[in-house]
Amino acid sequence: MIRGCDTITRTPVHRDPKSVIKEIVASGCQEEPFYVGDLGEVVRRWQKWNHLMPRIKPYYAVKCNNDKMLLSTLAALGAGFDCASQQEIKMVRTLGVSSDRIIFAQPVKMVSHISYASAVNVERMTFDSEMELKKIKQHMPHAKLVIRIRSDALKADHPLGIKFGCDPITEAPKLLEIAAQMDLQVIGVSFHVGSGVQEFESYGRAMRRAAEVFHKADSLGHCCTLLDIGGGFPGTRDNSIEKIAYVVNKELEISFPDDIEVISEPGQYFAAAPFTLAVMVYSIKQVSCEFEHEKAKTSTMYFINDGVYGSFGDRIYDSKQYFPELLQPRPSTPEPCSIWGPTADALDLVVPATDLPRLRVGDWLLFRDMGAYSMVLARTFNGCPVPVVKMYYVEEELWCSDRNLMMMNSSAAAPILLEPNDKLMLIEGVNE
Ligand SMILES: *Cc1c(COP(=O)(O)O)cnc(C)c1O
Repeated sequence: MIRGCDTITRTPVHRDPKSVIKEIVASGCQEEPFYVGDLGEVVRRWQKWNHLMPRIKPYYAVKCNNDKMLLSTLAALGAGFDCASQQEIKMVRTLGVSSDRIIFAQPVKMVSHISYASAVNVERMTFDSEMELKKIKQHMPHAKLVIRIRSDALKADHPLGIKFGCDPITEAPKLLEIAAQMDLQVIGVSFHVGSGVQEFESYGRAMRRAAEVFHKADSLGHCCTLLDIGGGFPGTRDNSIEKIAYVVNKELEISFPDDIEVISEPGQYFAAAPFTLAVMVYSIKQVSCEFEHEKAKTSTMYFINDGVYGSFGDRIYDSKQYFPELLQPRPSTPEPCSIWGPTADALDLVVPATDLPRLRVGDWLLFRDMGAYSMVLARTFNGCPVPVVKMYYVEEELWCSDRNLMMMNSSAAAPILLEPNDKLMLIEGVNE
């Protein structure tokens, strides 16, 4: 049985995840990897977003991390949700979120999912092809459609354009025409510049293209009132979000001065930083390789209890880099080493090359900003358990700053269900 924690610890002041992890490790014979979740960080990120981009309402992309406490916190704060499947819509609705706070933002949908959206009144959905228009016409003719256009960042960790989005110039006008002929209602335009954007001007470029599609749609008799600027906002703690906000706000003023509704679909921005992963070193191997004309080089292989089939899956998909931190300082000078996951697969390599002080079996490492595309991709290959969140915490002051948040841990009247955070049960336990 997978079991995590179902309560939120309120702390007098903000706590660094390291100190929280230290406490958990010290409290007993912990041998499995685990997360701690700083819900205060979710609140801070929400406040920061609203401060920087007050015109844009975030619809959190559930696929990035469907942790129930994260979703509940965002729901309580008033976020909308970007759902990509029937199951995600169900999950969000189970938390008490009304359907008008959900956008079905998967342009390519199964018929049963369209029917489900129709049954529960999730009206807004994206599309990018004629086939999808036909399916929607048949199964949900009253849907409020958002055309997804393609406009890629020149640089992003994970581009999405090869799979989704129609060309704004060569394809969008035709699709808008077909939609009009079918008597379908197009209410807006969306795009996704790519996950983990590194070219911030890409938002400005995509918004200018969206503005042209707005005009085209209006000229064909649609009435566009929604701009959806998608996701891609980095989850890091640097100032990327400030830079993106500058680009986006400026372009809003120029291309969308009117009072239209503007939303976004951030995933990583909200999910990454609140979660810190703790892993334990359970074995160590010294290896030495002989190189021609060189002395033998020794290096150390550390084996930890979580790997690429668990929280570090992005290393395979995105060749993402991870940076370990020691829980307890070790005084020796850093030496070359590599860090390996627990499965029998040689691909299960978390950190190929780094320098760390000499570690011992039983030492713990932590990895920060691990909440995005980690737990959701984890599986129990080789019988290695998927890490669970051992503790959620939030500083008192932030929690009490929002009435809905306070309700979350009080009574059954709260819009939030606080049953055990058991992911298997959560999926089975949903009934409409
Ligand atoms: C994955 C996805 C997102 C979230 O992307 P992030 O890069 O995590 O912000 C948003 N919208 C759509 C349609 C997606 O597929």
